[in-house]
Amino acid sequence: MFLFSTQSIKEMTGHCLAENPNEACGVVLGKTLLHQFKDICANEFSIERGVILFDSHLINDLNLTHANIKKIITTLTNVPLETGALETRKIMTVLDSLEFVAQNGGGDIATSIVRITNTAKSPYRYQMDPLEFLDADKKAERLDLGIVAFYHSHTHSAAYPSDTDVRLAIESGWTDPYYVLVSLENIDAHEIKMYQINVDGTVIEKNYSLSNCS
Ligand SMILES: [Zn+2]
Repeated sequence: MFLFSTQSIKEMTGHCLAENPNEACGVVLGKTLLHQFKDICANEFSIERGVILFDSHLINDLNLTHANIKKIITTLTNVPLETGALETRKIMTVLDSLEFVAQNGGGDIATSIVRITNTAKSPYRYQMDPLEFLDADKKAERLDLGIVAFYHSHTHSAAYPSDTDVRLAIESGWTDPYYVLVSLENIDAHEIKMYQINVDGTVIEKNYSLSNCS
């Protein structure tokens, strides 16, 4: 489950309303599951973040014990792991454990919003200022965060990616982060929805939940 802080939702909506009737756009920074995994390993087991890769073997490469692995997974899912789960579910690598976590309620955590100027200055399309985007990417790296989503507003249509949105996502190669659409079509009841845009052009709506922590 993707987690938004209520503060970041407020900031995103505030930005979209401020730019209305033009489209607003920006980047959502946060901690991916891999970042969260690294945090626990670094804080609890003094493992260097740099050695933790998706294909690292939990026991042979990271020297984690079964108890360590259970602790990490339980922390990320909030659900205690049943005995023998590591063997029966074939959780061998970092990627295996993150897939398990994702299937059991864990997810990216959005922590901050970076406004990007829409250089198209249009009610019907957006184009992120490339230098500001680069800065956002650098900021993410500096804070040890990742780009977990992009957002933009639709001022005259529903909160659903347009054909152009889908095409641009594929052409840019940015299909890992989610796409958040803020519709101001009904200004009194704006709608915020989140999607995964796949390289084959399919669009899947993703749920998110709100947390009060910033
Ligand atoms: Zn759009």
